[in-house]
Amino acid sequence: MLFEGQCLQASLNENGIADIVFNAQGSVNKFDQQTVSELNDLCAALEKNSDIKAAVVRSAKSTFIVGADITEFTGLFAEPEEKLLEWVANTSQVFDRFEDLPFPTVAAINGFALGGGCEMTLACDLRVADTTAAIGLPEVKLGLMPGFGGTVRLPRVIGADNAMEWMTTGKDRNAEKALNEGAIDAATAPEQLVAVANQMAADAAAGDIDWQARRAAKKAPLKLNRNEMMMSFATAKGMVFAQAGKHYPAPHMVVETLEKAATLDREGALKLENAGFVKLAKSEAATAQVGIFLADQVVKGKGKKQAKSATKKFEQAGVLGAGIMGGGIAYQSAVKGTKTIMKDIAEPALQLGLDEASKILDKGMKRGKVSSKKMAATLNNIVPTLDYKALENVDIVIEAVVENPKVKGIVLKETEETVADDAIICSNTSTISINALAENLSKPERFCGMHFFNPVHRMPLVEIIRGEKTSEETIANVVAMTLKMGKTPIVVNDCPGFLVNRVLFPYFAGFSKLLLDGADFVAVDKVMEKIFGWPMGPAFLLDVVGIDTADHAADVMADGFPERMKKVDNDPVTLLYKAERYGQKNQKGFYNHGLDKRGKPQKTPAEEAYELMSAHVADKKDFDAEEIIARLMIPMANEAIRCLEEGIVDSAAEADMALLYGLGFPPFRGGIFRYIDTMGVANFVALADKFAHLGEVYQVTDGAREMAKNNQKYCG
Ligand code: NAD
Repeated sequence: MLFEGQCLQASLNENGIADIVFNAQGSVNKFDQQTVSELNDLCAALEKNSDIKAAVVRSAKSTFIVGADITEFTGLFAEPEEKLLEWVANTSQVFDRFEDLPFPTVAAINGFALGGGCEMTLACDLRVADTTAAIGLPEVKLGLMPGFGGTVRLPRVIGADNAMEWMTTGKDRNAEKALNEGAIDAATAPEQLVAVANQMAADAAAGDIDWQARRAAKKAPLKLNRNEMMMSFATAKGMVFAQAGKHYPAPHMVVETLEKAATLDREGALKLENAGFVKLAKSEAATAQVGIFLADQVVKGKGKKQAKSATKKFEQAGVLGAGIMGGGIAYQSAVKGTKTIMKDIAEPALQLGLDEASKILDKGMKRGKVSSKKMAATLNNIVPTLDYKALENVDIVIEAVVENPKVKGIVLKETEETVADDAIICSNTSTISINALAENLSKPERFCGMHFFNPVHRMPLVEIIRGEKTSEETIANVVAMTLKMGKTPIVVNDCPGFLVNRVLFPYFAGFSKLLLDGADFVAVDKVMEKIFGWPMGPAFLLDVVGIDTADHAADVMADGFPERMKKVDNDPVTLLYKAERYGQKNQKGFYNHGLDKRGKPQKTPAEEAYELMSAHVADKKDFDAEEIIARLMIPMANEAIRCLEEGIVDSAAEADMALLYGLGFPPFRGGIFRYIDTMGVANFVALADKFAHLGEVYQVTDGAREMAKNNQKYCG
């Protein structure tokens, strides 16, 4: 044995090749502090050993190394800047030390070699990957950039242009693509991987591969002349600005760092990388994006655990209603392999549901993401029917008929009478109380809410609503079905609007009041999109949701929370609704909707909308961005705090993920609770108090005041 650690072992074979194996106990291989320290000790052991002719680095697991240990980031990044710099500089020196070993090194890559895992392979002289490999530097997705030498070595291996593409998008490559771009030296079948790597190591040791030249190139300045450099970096800056925008500093920092380091050797370039990494690690975007990663792990882990007690396999599902949502739900269930009976009361509606599924599949085919076989299989899995009897053998029924408690009550009752005794029944209602709907059923324990978001195939969230009588077995099964459908389940307790709509409607109320006080909806949309970062501003979102739907849901919320959510007089949404301006669905809402010359959706602010509001609004007034954001976001934040305090949602992490996955909350802000934390709870309370005169939705809870006083955070 050359070295024996907890995560890393090395032995010498009879040909003088060191077999270095990453094999973390009880987890995937990752670069936590323990592994980095073992890598350093390994280098010390190998440097002195003159029997070693070459080394192969491989993994004993189904995947190479997944990257740094992100669970260590929160603690590390909270350290003062000098400490953080010391950590990243020390770690990257370990990778340098490995790169400088006095013999050739070969990485044998299987499965994920991401982030630090990819950087480990780059510290080797040669790389071979098998067909299971996924190689990449995804750090930008966490608001970071590579910190273990990736920004230095990758451009010197594959060229600056390709390297910038890898690092600014964070996308990984399979073996074939990586080979084409020169990131690896060979691609092979999994069963050949170790043999090919050993042969490469032997060839390098024998002098048949000039590994010294490759190593020297990784340590020298980039081979670009001044003109090439100017072109390369100017193009990359333009692309990054267009794609990432100003809210995400990491991709900009990647390009800036590569540009400054282009004329430097390894030592100089690494210093720039270390400094850039620390700056990003301390940014709000990185805190938010790392927070999202960790919250996502919490949510996914919880889902998997809950699904373990599921009792059903979900071979057949039923969907009631073939409208926008029913069609989407049927598609999603079918595409993931469940035979799905889609029932409606009208033949044309069934056709519309099927057409919707075909449209999604067609788009996928055009983009090369769906094969004709997959398309046929999915469509075959959807069985349209007008007859309840077809539901006799389903494991689960998801009701998605019109949002009317009476109609839903009848449909649910009829469904219960048709399906098997142990079948699960869910409602996709967006506002109606699950406890109230359960009253229509004789077995309310097998009933819960299963709230999808529009468009179903794109939005990752399913909000699962536990009614008072819902059994935990039902929840476990619905969580399992949600996972089978490829969606992220978040379980919440019943209340009007559940979690997501309950926090959304106070935000809309803030918007309505702002318009009545003289704000221009176009200006508000601009601020909420460009500055706050929402995918759509409130006026546009209301048009997309449907003004009729929104107005109706606002009534339900007002009934549920009369003390806070009573509609304001002359609410612009109601004014539009009464004038039959229903939004995108009839092409007229706050905006007029149509198509541009190229057939793309286009919207223009509607004069008619201004006219409808004109008699009721104060004089036109310009509000600054800060005030617009505060007046919309404080009500949302306050309601989220109430949901947490009342136990509607179990944790801030789940609430943040629900808003991210269900509403498209801007990722660089990390979610509503991360937003409050970033501002500081005390600052949030002070800001809300400034607007308290505007109404109940601006009143902070006693719990939040207590948190502010104790200097606590919501996201730990
Ligand atoms: P929709 O009007 O597009 O579709 C409703 C469908 O139900 C129609 O095809 C109608 O023919 C059918 N239907 C009516 N009575 C029926 C019955 N007795 N049996 C079977 N089918 C019947 O409505 P939608 O937008 O798809 O909404 C459906 C449900 O999903 C509502 O509860 C709504 O609140 C909820 N929801 C909607 C959205 C959204 O953005 N549209 C988002 C989340 C949840």
